[in-house]
Amino acid sequence: MGGLQTKGTAGEAGLCLNFFPVDVYYTIIQISKSSRLSISNQMLISKWWGYNGHMTELLYQTDSYLREFQANISAYDPQNRGITMDRTAFYPGGGGQPWDTGVLISGDDTYKVEKVKKAGDEVVHFLDREMPSPLRSGTVRAVLDWNRRYQLMRTHTALHILCGVVFRDYGAQVTGGDMDPLKGRMDFEFETMRGELVRAIETAVNLEVEKGRPIQVRILPREEAFQIPDLIRTKINLLPQGIQQVRTVEIAGLDLQADGGTHVVNTREVGRIRIADYKSKGAINKRIYIELEPS
Ligand SMILES: [Zn+2]
Repeated sequence: MGGLQTKGTAGEAGLCLNFFPVDVYYTIIQISKSSRLSISNQMLISKWWGYNGHMTELLYQTDSYLREFQANISAYDPQNRGITMDRTAFYPGGGGQPWDTGVLISGDDTYKVEKVKKAGDEVVHFLDREMPSPLRSGTVRAVLDWNRRYQLMRTHTALHILCGVVFRDYGAQVTGGDMDPLKGRMDFEFETMRGELVRAIETAVNLEVEKGRPIQVRILPREEAFQIPDLIRTKINLLPQGIQQVRTVEIAGLDLQADGGTHVVNTREVGRIRIADYKSKGAINKRIYIELEPS
C-alpha cells in the first residue's frame, strides 16, 4: 500500500520509524509473499491496474549505486502506460524519499520513466508515451537519472545524520520529515528552539559529515531486528505479523533505523549541510530545514 501513497501525505513524510504509520512499513521492508498483507495488497492493486502476481526484485535495496540495468518486462498496462519488470533499480518512493526518474530503452526506442510506484510486490514504472504492442515483452535496458538519484541519496543520509545528532545531543525524537533533491526538513519534539541551538546542531552535523562515518545497509530476520535496542526505541514492534525481514540503515556510531531508502556509503559524500531555516509547528514540534551543496 505504500506504493499507492502520494508524496507529502502526513504518514509517508515520516523518516524515522517512531512515527511511521503501519502503511509506510510496506515500502521499507521486504514483504513475505504469504502474509495477509500481500493478500490485501493484491485486492487493492487489482482495482487500479491489472495485477498479475509477479514480483519485482528490488535492486536498489542492496546496491544503491546501481544506475543502469537490464530487466525482463513482466506486464504492461496500456491504460496507465505502466510497466512492471522482474527487477528494478528505480526507487518507487516512500519514507519521505521521492521516486526515481530515468529512461527505459527497448531496441531503438527510448521511453521516459516519469513516475514510479510500488504496488504490492511489484514496482510500476509509468512511461511518457505508449509502448507499441510488439515491444511489451522481452528485455529492456534502463538508466536512472543519476544526478537526481545521487542528490536524493545525499539528502536522505543528511537527514539521518540530523536525526542521529539531535537524538544523541538533545534526546529529541523525530515526528516527521520530507525531502527533495538537495533539500529536506525534519520535525522534532523540541519545546523551544533558538538561533544558537540551531547553530550548534549545524556545527555538530557537519562534524559528523567530516568524520567520514561509513553507512551500512543490512536485511535482518525479524527476530534479530527485534533484539536491537536502537530499533526497539523506534517502535519496531509495530511491524505487522508476517513480515519476516527488516532492512536497516546504520551510520556507524551515530544512527540506526529501519529504512527502505537509498543512501550514500560514507557521510563525507553528503558534503556540507546548511540549516536553511527553522520554525515552530506547535507547542512541542519544531521544524528544521536543511540544504546541501550541488556537489
Ligand atoms: Zn530514512
